Amino acid sequence: MSTPLSTTSYTLIDGKKASEAIKEKVAADVVAFKAQGGKTPHLAAIIVGSDGASETYVGNKVRTCEAIGFKSTLVRFPSEISEAELLQKVEDINNDPDIDGLIVQLPLPAHISVEKVTSKIKPEKDVDGFHPVNIGRMNKGLPAFISATPYGILLLLDFYNIPTKGKHCVVVGRSHIVGSPISILMAQDTKVGNCTVTICHRHTADLPAITKQADILIVATGRPGMITGDMVKDGVVVIDVGITRVADATKKSGFAIKGDVDFDSVAPKSSYITPVPGGVGLMTIASLMKNTLSSAKKEIFSS
Ligand code: NDP
Repeated sequence: MSTPLSTTSYTLIDGKKASEAIKEKVAADVVAFKAQGGKTPHLAAIIVGSDGASETYVGNKVRTCEAIGFKSTLVRFPSEISEAELLQKVEDINNDPDIDGLIVQLPLPAHISVEKVTSKIKPEKDVDGFHPVNIGRMNKGLPAFISATPYGILLLLDFYNIPTKGKHCVVVGRSHIVGSPISILMAQDTKVGNCTVTICHRHTADLPAITKQADILIVATGRPGMITGDMVKDGVVVIDVGITRVADATKKSGFAIKGDVDFDSVAPKSSYITPVPGGVGLMTIASLMKNTLSSAKKEIFSS
């Protein structure tokens, strides 16, 4: 007779519910800020080329701006634009006093340096949080624009009031956009923080021995289903950042979106778990909007 895996019942962390609540709060804050004489927050987005996914992401951001009372400016360039022309446009927006936040949608064509473009954005308008100044400030625990995915994870943990203080947080993945910043943030002396953090990567010896110690497990590897039920302990909180398209003949599109966590075997052992899709991914726009409002209010870099 097989032993059932299930030992705890879990709460599904609903990224849609959390992101909608945050966007509603931002919209209310905009009204209050303007009533006190504040300006309308204004987000500018630059898109280069005609990548379908980028179009969708930017379109969603612009629509959200409209829905919550922000102004938005969308600047489109053909993929042949030179690096110098793009850098000049960034400079123009840096100098535009009405624009509070600027994002340059990635990926960029190969002839343009992402690093150069990212570093050209004025830190005070870098609502994507990729500028070295914002990354450095975040590392020091100073007010900073935190990039959308790690910020989205903090917001989700906060929304569900998941205790973090004194917990062991294991982060699998050490990329500059997810694994590394979320490891730093979870260890800081903040409301959603104060964890003891272990960060894992491809050279980690005996990964399951470490993931099994996690009270909170954050996985950002891009390896679909790599975390299985036998790699976690009962009651773990699981944040699955992974988004990978895998072929699926049963879907009209021909593919399904998979997370890095094998949901079916891990969920029954979890206390909280994010679905993919429907979890972390939905939080990124809410994070961006919060950053843009903070910029308009000059909460990060005082004027
Ligand atoms: P990267 O490829 O930049 O980094 C992956 C990390 O995972 C690396 O640090 C790598 O280690 C580690 N890794 C890979 N395989 C293993 C393994 N077998 N064991 C342990 N560690 C491993 O990916 P990103 O961080 O950019 O993205 C990760 C996933 O998150 C992707 O699926 C991506 O699509 C998704 N994502 C989702 C977002 C969202 O909004 N939900 C936003 C951003 C990303 P090493 O450094 O040693 O190579």
